[in-house]
Amino acid sequence: MCGIIAVIQKKGQVAPFLHQALKRLEYRGYDSVGITTISEDQLFTKKDKGKIDEVHKKLNLDNLPGSIGIGHTRWATHGIPSLYNSHPHFDCYEKIAVVHNGVIDNFLELRKKLLKKGHTFGSETDTEVIPHMIEDEMKSGSSLKEAIKNVTERIEGTYAIVAMSIHEPDKIICTRNGNPLVIGKKEGTSYVSSDIPAFLPMTNSMILLLDGEIATLTTDDVRIEKLSDGSVIERDTIKISWTASQAQKGGFPHFMLKEIHEQPDAIKQTLRIRPEMFVKAANTIQEANRVYFLAMGTSGHSAMAGRYMFASSSGIVPSFELASDFTDIMYDSISEDDCIIAITQSGETTDTITSVKYAKEHGAKIIAITNVVGSSITRIADHTIITQAGPEIGVAATKTLMVQLAALAQLSIHTGQITEFRTNEFLMRMRENLEEVPDKISNIIAIEEEKARRLARIYYNKPSFLFLGRGISISTAFEGALKLKEISYNHAEGYSAGESKHGPIALVEKGYPVIFVAPKDSTHGRIIGNVMEMKSRGAEIISVIEESDSDLLELSDHAFQIPSGIRHEFSPMAYVVPLQLFSYYMARRNGYDPDKPRNLAKSVTVL
Ligand code: GLU
Repeated sequence: MCGIIAVIQKKGQVAPFLHQALKRLEYRGYDSVGITTISEDQLFTKKDKGKIDEVHKKLNLDNLPGSIGIGHTRWATHGIPSLYNSHPHFDCYEKIAVVHNGVIDNFLELRKKLLKKGHTFGSETDTEVIPHMIEDEMKSGSSLKEAIKNVTERIEGTYAIVAMSIHEPDKIICTRNGNPLVIGKKEGTSYVSSDIPAFLPMTNSMILLLDGEIATLTTDDVRIEKLSDGSVIERDTIKISWTASQAQKGGFPHFMLKEIHEQPDAIKQTLRIRPEMFVKAANTIQEANRVYFLAMGTSGHSAMAGRYMFASSSGIVPSFELASDFTDIMYDSISEDDCIIAITQSGETTDTITSVKYAKEHGAKIIAITNVVGSSITRIADHTIITQAGPEIGVAATKTLMVQLAALAQLSIHTGQITEFRTNEFLMRMRENLEEVPDKISNIIAIEEEKARRLARIYYNKPSFLFLGRGISISTAFEGALKLKEISYNHAEGYSAGESKHGPIALVEKGYPVIFVAPKDSTHGRIIGNVMEMKSRGAEIISVIEESDSDLLELSDHAFQIPSGIRHEFSPMAYVVPLQLFSYYMARRNGYDPDKPRNLAKSVTVL
C-alpha cells in the first residue's frame, strides 16, 4: 500500500522533487520514508521510520546529490516500521536500490537460498530478496532489465517494483503485478509513481503500465516491453484533466476538510458524465439474472445505498457482498447470467479486484465504478464509469463516496428507463431532484460545520458511540461510524435502528451518545420510537434530521438540520455530510491528524 516515486532528469538535483512527491503520496503509507539517488557512481540514501516531516527535520531529505532517484513511503507488511526496514533496499554491495509495494509471498524460501549463497540482509522485509536476486543475476552478466525480468519469474505475490543501479546510472526500471504504477513524461524527464498526484505538478501526460510489463525510463524515452516475450508495446500518452492545485490543500488545514468542501463540485462534475457511459451498463444490469454489488469500506456503504436507489427507480434489487468474502460464499454458483457492479475509489482494491476476476472467470459481466482512469479494475471490467472527484488525498474517503452515490443514482435512473418499472415522468423528477443535491450540500456545509466543531468539543472524549438509521439511512449510519472510528479512534458502531433493540441497546446508559440518521421518509414514525427507547435509557441523542422536523428536534439533545426537498433515494448524500464534519473535528479535538489515520492506507492493495 506504500507510495513509490522515481524520477530521471537531465541535470539538477532530484531529491527536493522526490521529497515533495512523497508528501503527495504520504496518504498511501506513512510509517517510514526513504530516498536514494545516484551521483558519481555512488548511491546516496536517507531513510528512517516516521512521518516524512519528522524524518526530513532529522535528515534533510532535500540534501542528496544526483539527477536520478527513487523514493518510498512505507505501510509495513513484513517487519516493524524501523530504519532498517525502510525502503529503498539494497544488494550486498549497495550498487542496486529497490523500492517495492506489495507482498512477496515466497520470500522466506528465497531468503533462505540467498543466505546460503552468502548474501547478508539488512532488514526483515520481504522486499529485500529482490535487490539480492538482481545482484546475482547481474553478476552472471544480465543487464538491470534482464535481471529484473528473470527475478519476476521466481517471485510470487503482488508487487510494483522500481529499481536502479550504479552499473547503469542512466535508467530506471519498473514492473508490476497487481499493484499500481503510472509513468509520467515531459521533455527531458521521466517519472514513475504509484499514483498520479506525485508527479502532477510537473506533468499531466501519463502512460499506463500494465501487469506483466516492464518499462525502461531514460531522460528522453519510455520503453515498455511484455515480460513474457520481450515484445515492445506502443502505448499512447494520456492527458489527465486533474490539476496540480486539486492535489494541494488550497488553504485548508487538512485534505479531508478540503475534500468535504469539494463535494458539491465533485457531484456536479459527475452529473455531467455522458449518458452513453451509463446506457450500456444499464442494459447489462437489466439483462442479468442476478446483480451483485461488490465493494469494501466506504465504497460498500455506497453500494448499500445504491440498492435502494435501484429498487426505487428500476425495480431491481441488487445484492451487496463484501468483496473480501465473495469467493468464499459463492463457491461456483456465479455464472454468465450474473452481473457484478464493483465499486472501488482507487480501482486497485485487491479484495475487489480478486473477487471481480473470479466472477469474470465464471463468465459474469462486470461493471466498474471507480475514480481512477486506467486503474486495474478498468482493464477487467466490461463497462467502466469513471467518477469525477479528482484526486482524493485524505485517507478517509469523503468526496469519492459522494461521486459514487451520484454515479449510482444516474445508473439506477438509466436502468429504470429500460425496465420501465417507473414512468418517464417519475424518473425525470428523480433526475431533477438529483441536480439540486450539490447546492443543498453547500448549504449544509456552510451552516452545520460550526455545529460539528461545537459538538466535537462536547463529545470528544466519549469512549463509544452508536450510529442508527433505518432503510436507506442504515448506510449513512454505517458510514458515520466508520468515519469516526477510523480518524478519531472513538469506538463507534453503525447499526440498523430496527436491529438495535436486539443487542446494542444493552450498551446504553446515562450519557451514552446515540446518533440517529433520520430523514422524513417512510421510516420516520418508527425511528421516533427508537429514539424514545434510547432516551428512556438515558442516551444522549444527536440527530441528523430534516429542517422542518420539529418532533425529532424536540426529542434530540443536539440536531444537525438538513434542507427539505431531497428525495429519500439521495438522502445519504446530504445526511452523511454533518457526520463527516463531526468526525473531522473529533479527530482534531483528540489531537490526531485526520489525513493520516494510524494503521490505515488509502488504497488497500493487500488481501
Ligand atoms: N512488503 C513490503 C514491506 O513490508 C512493502 C510494503 C508496502 O507496500 O509498503 O516493506
